[in-house]
Amino acid sequence: MNSEKNVLLEVRNLRVEFKVKAKQPLVAVDDVSFDVLEGETFGLVGESGSGKTTIGRTIIRIHEATSGQIRYRGEQINGSIPGELDRDITKKIQMIFQDPMASLNERAKIDYIVSEGLYNTKQFINEEDRRRKVADALVEVGLLPEFASRFPHEFSGGQRQRIGVARALAIQPEFIIADEPISALDVSIRAQVLNLLAKLQNELGLTYLFIAHDLSVVRFITDRVAVIHQGKIVELADTEDLFENPLHPYTQSLLSAIPLPDPIEEKKKVLKVYDPGVHDYALYKPKWVEITQGHFVLGSTPEIAEYKKHV
Ligand code: ADP
Ligand code: MG
Repeated sequence: MNSEKNVLLEVRNLRVEFKVKAKQPLVAVDDVSFDVLEGETFGLVGESGSGKTTIGRTIIRIHEATSGQIRYRGEQINGSIPGELDRDITKKIQMIFQDPMASLNERAKIDYIVSEGLYNTKQFINEEDRRRKVADALVEVGLLPEFASRFPHEFSGGQRQRIGVARALAIQPEFIIADEPISALDVSIRAQVLNLLAKLQNELGLTYLFIAHDLSVVRFITDRVAVIHQGKIVELADTEDLFENPLHPYTQSLLSAIPLPDPIEEKKKVLKVYDPGVHDYALYKPKWVEITQGHFVLGSTPEIAEYKKHV
């Protein structure tokens, strides 16, 4: 199925370092490579601090890549690029943020918040056109056009995240990076926001990079998943394949942390704890290997031989 789709975003050997007070820079993203195909939902999953947000922010050019390439529709978009391409990328790639309580400007009306991208990219003919685009975006996410004249504090967490989605949609992007869009929301409204994202994808043909810190969230909404641990992607596969055949011990530990629906089974379950010390990478450097079609794992030569026995 995937082979028919076009590659929208290519990330190749991406490394992102931050200068910190310590002598050594902090390596937040280390030799990360993946493709996002047009129209798919690609999941990026890993615990807090593993480098997920940094990858998202580097794609939209907030952070600089220390090395590696990021290409969008085949064109390099990291490093110094022509102004026109920069503006084009700003229109086509949007990000939805983790915490809707923190990411909306409290002093601005919804009208202004949703228009921000329109102002930045000058994508409206006149006031009437701008207002119509704001109203359309609000309706698209299940809110009322009248909400434009209100302030963020008048809304609940779920509504605020819908406003965040409307802000991203207003400029009609192709590609949305959703950075843990439901993890700050009440459990009771998470499904609504996920359903909204799925609906928008169907209607508008959007492509998503969906960032999450646990695998349970991505199971039902992603086509493929990459698992990231301390800045390195350790496994990547079609979602069902990853759930049925997790190879890397870190993926296995994340899977074992998902609660089982049956309370008796859940009680009997043995949590797998990942110990990075199991890898003997001093002797064998780990390589990124395609074990079966589309199923990649990071491992040393003996580990890869072992993984191959399990597929
Ligand atoms: P995640 O989104 O997976 O929780 P992040 O990408 O936010 O992880 O962070 C990855 C690592 O980079 C962490 O160690 C974090 O402290 C560090 N980091 C993130 N942003 C910055 C920054 N602007 N300056 C310095 N260190 C940063
Ligand atoms: Mg993050």
